[in-house]
This record gives sequence, structure tokens and C-alpha cells, in this order.
Amino acid sequence: MNTAIIGAGIGGLATALAMRKAGVDAVVYEQASTVGEVGAGLSLTPNAVKALDWLGVGERIRALADEPPQMLTCHYATGEVLVAFDRSDTVQRYGAPYLQMHRADLHRVLLDAWLKQSPDGLRTDRRLIALESNGTPGSSTRLRFEDAAANRHENSAAAVVAADGLKSLVRTQVFGATAPKFGGFVAWRGLVPLAALEGVPLSAGSKVFAGPGRLFVRYPVRRGGLMNYVAFARVDEWQPEGWSQTGTVAEAAALLHGFHPEVHSILAATPEGRCHKWGLFAREPLPEWTRGCVALLGDAAHPMMPWFGQGAASALEDAVILGRCVIASTAESDAPQTEAGLIAAFRRYERTRHARVTLIHHESAAGGERLAGMQPERLRDQPVRNEDSLGLFSYDPVSEALA
Ligand SMILES: Cc1cc2nc3c(=O)[nH]c(=O)nc-3n(C[C@H](O)[C@H](O)[C@H](O)COP(=O)(O)OP(=O)(O)OC[C@H]3O[C@@H](n4cnc5c(N)ncnc54)[C@H](O)[C@@H]3O)c2cc1C
Repeated sequence: MNTAIIGAGIGGLATALAMRKAGVDAVVYEQASTVGEVGAGLSLTPNAVKALDWLGVGERIRALADEPPQMLTCHYATGEVLVAFDRSDTVQRYGAPYLQMHRADLHRVLLDAWLKQSPDGLRTDRRLIALESNGTPGSSTRLRFEDAAANRHENSAAAVVAADGLKSLVRTQVFGATAPKFGGFVAWRGLVPLAALEGVPLSAGSKVFAGPGRLFVRYPVRRGGLMNYVAFARVDEWQPEGWSQTGTVAEAAALLHGFHPEVHSILAATPEGRCHKWGLFAREPLPEWTRGCVALLGDAAHPMMPWFGQGAASALEDAVILGRCVIASTAESDAPQTEAGLIAAFRRYERTRHARVTLIHHESAAGGERLAGMQPERLRDQPVRNEDSLGLFSYDPVSEALA
């Protein structure tokens, strides 16, 4: 069974590793010509680390990531601690650490692992422009690509996993267009060398400064070498979707007027050109993610608001569950993988994942409203309802029962 994976992001590469573990060969097609250093920090909660362990890259990730001993939510102006989460016993509580790291490092580890297993398993400069399947069992799906020079290429595959992100072409073509929903916030993110913050008193771990309609989140990455930050502000106007628009520190600083001096010290230390902005978009959850031999995965299946830090984690969980479903279907038939077996595995993956991801989707959207939508003082007295209290960290994609 030759499988095409569209998109060499976190979800696509994790899926390639999972499919290989399940004995299915895959080729990953990526629109970018080079796989470079893009993005900034992201969170890998214990549920995500368990997935990375199963994929065989957990140790490398631990060596590159930061493990916050605590996470504080503070008053935006005074810096008073409103809510404190002790993360020092995370491994004992959940069986894996809570990590934060540069997206580029996570991406590089997954890519290296994949290319080591499959040196010819990645085609870059291949933007999928159309996908055709006549629905007849046994007939393969035709994939049309365009490269940067506008040359056309064609390939076929028995099965397709679309991990082509927020603006997934496959979702639109196969499952129907779903309009992006502006989440009401614009975010600025930046990376500041720790050396540039000398003299700024910084507590260990991660910190959120919460103000009405505005938030500032900061945590170290690159083993404390860089301070990663994201500033969120509620706005009325729509922004284009995308990860790498240039923003200016001045814009972010103006919107965070009145925030604690620590926030402004970090913003002011941002190196030239290292501040990016993006509008927060999500889409309504789809009722189904698989159709025949085509499956959606990661942001392509369930783009969500980032408040719970579960975007990458959910893509990694998807990949492990999909791999386990393929392994189970091969074991049940006691024969090499067939198209019918793969279709059954895709359906099982969707059944196993759908309820959890839909819950995260809705809760994450509500969580952002709670954090940025009220007087911050009230956070101190409100019962906490977040990714931790909802039990998301306890999930283990490796032992979760397949539906
Ligand atoms: C450039 C970039 C920077 C990011 N930075 C951050 C960050 O700083 N912090 C954070 O928390 N999250 C970030 N994310 C999002 C985060 O990686 C995802 O939410 C999460 O990891 C889920 O991953 P995914 O693989 O489903 O989607 P993505 O990570 O979005 O990967 C999708 C991949 O598909 C490729 N693709 C899209 N369309 C096509 C096509 N037609 N043909 C071929 N390939 C295609 C894209 O180029 C991309 O490589 C970033 C994503 C991207 C793409």
C-alpha cells in the first residue's frame, strides 16, 4: 500500500513515522521548497510527549526542550500572582513531562527521524493543487502538484493522509469548504535572546499576564537561550490567516499599554524583524474526517484556538492513534495491509479521536474568553477550568482504547 501524506508539518511527519511503524510505506509531499526555521515556541503537554515517545523521538525532544517548573497567571499591570500551577511533579502525576520548545526544533527532530528511516520519503516544492478519486475500490487516488516554477507533476497513491494544515486543500475538495472563523484576537510573537534581558527580574518557567481583552504569555525555549513570547489583543477587524506576517513591536507595545514593566522590557528587546503577527482563526469541527482512503489529520481536520496549547499535541495524538489503528487492522486480518483494511483503520481513527478533539476545540475557545474576557482579579476566585483540570494531560494515545 503506497500512502501519500500531504504536508510535512508536525502532523505530517509524525504520521509518516507512525505509518512506517505500522508497516505502511509513505511519501510526504510538502509545498515549501526548503524546510527552514519557522515559528516560535509551542507547548508539548504530557499527552503529546507520550505520543513522541511512541514515535521513537522522545529522548531527543527532552534533550532540546525546556521543562517549566511552574506556570503563573499574573495581573497584567501589577504582576500579582493570581493563579499558580506547580509543574514540578508532572512526570509523577501524568507519566510524562510538560515541555516547551521551539517549533523548528520539534520539526527538525521529526524530519531527521523520518529521513533516517526513509531517505526518499520527502518531496519538497510540491504544492497539491488537485486530488481525484473515482471512488472505485482498488483504483488509486491521483494527486496533482505544482512546483515553484509552475511546473505540474502527477503522482498516485492508494491512500492519502492530508496533514496540510489550517487552510487544507484536501478538506475543501473532499469534505467541502468550511469558512475560517476569525477568533477575535490578533497575536504577535517574538523570540528574544536571554542575554538581551539581563537585569530584568524573570521568574522561572512560564508566565501569563492577563488583562481585559489582552494577554501576554512568555516562556523560555532553547534550554533557556531564548525567551519566547506571544501577545494577544482582542480586535474587531479581520487579519489574513498565516504564520509569518511581519508585525512591529511598536504595535504590540501600544496595544499592551499599561501592562507590567516586565512585558515591555521583553517586547523592547525583540531583535529587528523577529516580531511576527497573525490573526487567530478556527473552523467549526467537521462531522467526519475520513472518506474512503482519504483521511484528514491535525489542523487540516480540526483547526482550533491556541489557548490550551493543544494544536501540535492533537496532531501528534492523531498520528499515534492512526498508526495504532493500522497496526490493529493488520493484526486482525493476519495478512498484509489491504485497501479495505486501511479504509477500516481510517474510520476507526476518526471514531477514536473525534469526541476528544471536538471537546478540546470547544473548551479551548471558551478558555481564551475566560482568560481575556473578565477582570483579571476574578481569575483568583474562579474555579480553574483549563487543559489540566479537564484531564487532557492524563490521556495516553498509546494505551487509549481504539473505538
Ligand atoms: C510556518 C508555521 C509556523 C508555525 N508556528 C507556530 C508557533 O510558533 N507556535 C505554535 O503553537 N504553532 C505554530 N504553528 C502551528 C502548529 O505547528 C500546528 O498548529 C500544529 O503543529 C498542527 O500541525 P499540522 O501538521 O496539522 O499543521 P501545520 O504545522 O500547519 O503543517 C501543515 C503543512 O502542510 C503544508 N501544506 C499546506 N498546504 C499544502 C499543499 N497544498 N500542498 C503541500 N503541502 C501543503 C504546509 O506548508 C505545512 O508544512 C505553525 C505552523 C506553521 C505552518
